[in-house]
Parts: sequence; C-alpha cells; structure tokens
Amino acid sequence: MPAGRYAPSPTGDLHLGNLRTALVAWASARSSGRDFYLRLEDLDRDRFRDPQSQINDLEEIGIDWDGEVVVQSERLDLYQTAIETLAAQGMVFECFCSRRDIREAASAAHTPPGHYPGTCLGMTEGEMAEKRASLASRRLKPALRFRPKVDNFTVVDQYVGEYTGAVDPVVLQRGDGAFAYNLAVVVDDVAMGVDQVVRGDDLLTSAPVQTYLTEALGGTPPIYGHVPLVLGPGGARLAKRDGAVTLSELRDLGHTTEEILRLLSKSLGLPEVSSASSFLEVFNDYTPQTTPWVYAPEPT
Ligand code: GLU
Repeated sequence: MPAGRYAPSPTGDLHLGNLRTALVAWASARSSGRDFYLRLEDLDRDRFRDPQSQINDLEEIGIDWDGEVVVQSERLDLYQTAIETLAAQGMVFECFCSRRDIREAASAAHTPPGHYPGTCLGMTEGEMAEKRASLASRRLKPALRFRPKVDNFTVVDQYVGEYTGAVDPVVLQRGDGAFAYNLAVVVDDVAMGVDQVVRGDDLLTSAPVQTYLTEALGGTPPIYGHVPLVLGPGGARLAKRDGAVTLSELRDLGHTTEEILRLLSKSLGLPEVSSASSFLEVFNDYTPQTTPWVYAPEPT
C-alpha cells in the first residue's frame, strides 16, 4: 500500500506551523487513498524531548495514522545495513573533521554555508591511519560521510516544480555512532513504502541528496510536496519567542481546538472548517501555496 507520513523530531512541542504541515501531509495521503504513518525521528539524543505531547497534539487536531508509531531509535539495524550497502558501492568515506575544521575550511574555500568542503575526500591510507589512531586514543571514531558520484540532482516537487540542488557528502553516521537524519529518513521512507513526502519547505534543499541516496540504496524516490513555512510577525521562522504558538499555549489563552483548525484551514486558502474530517472534505480544493503564512500571535 503506498503511503504518506509525518515525521517530527521530538525536540519540543509542535507549533502551529508544524501542525499545519502535518494536516496537509495527512490530507494529501488520505485524499489519495494512501496509508499514513507517524514516525518519530529521535536519533539526535542531544535534542531529545518526550514525544508524548507531539502525539497528543496530532490526535487532538484529528490526525490519525496506520499501525504503531514508528520510532527511529528502534530501527538501528536497518541504518547499519544501509551504510554497508553504500560502502559496498564505494559511496562511504571516513571524515575526521570537527565542526570547527569544517567551518574554517569552508570559509577559506568559499564553500556555501552548511556544505562540506571536501577535506577528507582525498586523504591517503597513511594519513587516515594516523587520524584514526589519534581519535581512538580519545575513544572517538571518525564520522562516516556519503560519497556521491554527482554534484547536483534534480527532483520534481508537486508544488514547487523542478528543483535542482547540490548533492553534498552528507554525514551518514556521526563520530559518536548516531545515525544521521539524511540516512535514516531515506532508509525508513523506502522500508515503510512511503511514496509521498509532504513536509516543510526548509527541507527542499535536502531533497536532491535524499533522492540520490534513495536511488543508491535501490529504492524508488517518493513524490515530494514542500509546504511553505509559517513565519512569525518579525518575518523569521515561527518560534517560541513569538508568544503563544503551540496548541497548549493557545488553549491556555482560551482558544478551542476548533478555532485553531479554522485558523489553519483559512491560512491554507481553504474554507474555515473546524474538524479534521471536514478539512479532508475541503482539501480537494487545495491550491498549493508558494509563499509563507505570516502568523501574528496574540500578545501573551
Ligand atoms: N524530522 C524532520 C524534522 O522534524 C523532518 C523529516 C522529513 O519530513 O523528512 O525536521
């Protein structure tokens, strides 16, 4: 059965922007006869928070999902196998760089921010052995990065159209052993039969590397739909500093869940409906938006 999914990272309460994207992802899957899954992307243990409030809030606005909630930290064997599959194709290399090394090398080489400057790609076996030994003496290991065979890749997004972006040598497994987001997201989408990915457009720039990685793992890339983010009144991505932005904060101010659903459906250019089932009915008229919604929360 083809499926869509919502895949939050449990790093804190969902805000209106997250809930709005979750609604669009859910309605896109349900209105096209797909299954819908909830997957908790909890591999980053440094930022982990109890996911229960996220689950409660999604239920509260009427989103439902098939099967159990999928939890990435329970699927580590799958990610390990994927790294082995990529390594067998020569698509993995060891990286000894610290964040600071990357920052400094990137700025010297004028690499765009966030992109890997390629430092460890050309190392000799001898140099690597030395670096490995030095890390091992501090009980550390090198990170593993992806070695793509292309620089760019083009994806087709059902809302944005064709998008070409860099395929970076992204981290697959951190030096502390944690599997990285770009690997896990792809492995899980393939393993779960997800063929429709609707998510925030902050991840559009990751779609080329994820598509390429999917193909390298022998999977079929999903259809993407990247939804514009919600911005706060200052024009930056909606965040805590903007006041009451989560369901519980809004409810503390006396707003009902029905009111919040009306606000979200209106923000998507749809008739104001007060339940998820009515949202699904009006969703057929959804015209994908290309500009962010600027939300001005009430003063608290
Ligand atoms: N877990 C990611 C996030 O919360 C989203 C992953 C995805 O939808 O591909 O930003």
